[in-house]
Amino acid sequence: MTMLPAPSILPIDSLLPEEPLLMMGAGPVPIPDKVARANSIVINHLGETMARVIDQVKTMSRYVFQTQSQWILGVAGPGSAAMEMAVCNLVWPGTKVLSVINGFFSKRLAEMSQRVGGEVIRYEVAERGAADPQEVKRLIELHRPQVITIVQGETSNTVLNRYLPEICRIARSYDCYVIVDAVCTLSTMPLAMDEWYIDSVITGGQKGLSSIPGVSLIAFSERAWARMNARTSPIHHWCLDAKLAEQFWHNASYHYTAPVSGILALHEALRLVCVETLDTRFARHLRCSLALQAGIEAMGLSLFVPIESRLNSVIGINLPNGISQADFCRHLSKRYRVEISGSFGLPIVRIGQMGEQSRAHNLFRTLHAFGSTMKDFDVNVDLPAGMAGLEAALQKSNGDTEGQYGK
Ligand SMILES: *Cc1c(COP(=O)(O)O)cnc(C)c1O
Repeated sequence: MTMLPAPSILPIDSLLPEEPLLMMGAGPVPIPDKVARANSIVINHLGETMARVIDQVKTMSRYVFQTQSQWILGVAGPGSAAMEMAVCNLVWPGTKVLSVINGFFSKRLAEMSQRVGGEVIRYEVAERGAADPQEVKRLIELHRPQVITIVQGETSNTVLNRYLPEICRIARSYDCYVIVDAVCTLSTMPLAMDEWYIDSVITGGQKGLSSIPGVSLIAFSERAWARMNARTSPIHHWCLDAKLAEQFWHNASYHYTAPVSGILALHEALRLVCVETLDTRFARHLRCSLALQAGIEAMGLSLFVPIESRLNSVIGINLPNGISQADFCRHLSKRYRVEISGSFGLPIVRIGQMGEQSRAHNLFRTLHAFGSTMKDFDVNVDLPAGMAGLEAALQKSNGDTEGQYGK
């Protein structure tokens, strides 16, 4: 046998920047130290310790999803794998699916539904707008879908489906199963699975929860679980079969080797949410996002989405003068060591406000880097006014946004 020669490879330290970049894009987001440390540990994927970890992860997830349902499962995979898990367990050949499409990720849910044989009806919402409950109702009456897919927040274009509770209520009154993608929004703003009649909620690790990418969470309602129990057609995805995943997540036995370290990291991320409490966490996100938006506007720039349908978890900013997103973001990263995101086909850049991104010190550094980059690109911005606008908004809201979201 002739062996191929071993390649000569640089150690990872020589690839990574000396000073870590501040991750202020649309995900992944910075992780707290406790999450990072948990992520460095490997334990047996089965056995008593893991069983206790899983038990706590499920208890904390019920709080974060605001559900009493016992059907919480983790997924070794990105948010998209959790999306696919929701879809492939609840949709099969011939299932009618109404997909509410506001952008890139909601379109992905429609495509996944189609791939597993669903008959997909697409409700394409007007650009920059939230889905209209009356239009959803009209489409339900017209097409009688069994399943509806929708995103809470469209990370891709920074639109919030603010009428989500009403849409879910309407869907339930027609006995539809609702799948909600809360990948970027979970734990950054209110979502109440039971109270809103949601049948499956999906989230990833690397956004609102400030955990690592690659380990995700999904919850099913009791009635969604009953639908899966009654299903007769086979599920083509072995890894994503919820009934098989139940082996690990509910019976402490083997399905596939769980991503142990990632689950430990997720445990710590969820625990930090519980310690902070959801109310306080929502208020922090709202205060920080609105202050950053105020700072950007005070600098003389404009936001992409009108306030009625604007997402706070990710901020979309119009990029003036035909500047290239890629050039802008690269310069910001190289020169100021702050990473933000471009977008898929829109003339905007995006700054995240998820988890650890929503901290005052990160806002100041980011806004300064962002405004300075604008100046470097010859955009006439008033940087001092922007910084003052951020400061004033944080001062003003200190305390008085606590109750804005209520209970
Ligand atoms: C990021 C994101 C996804 C996809 O998550 P991945 O981990 O990249 O697969 C899905 N939906 C929304 C709303 C997102 O923000």
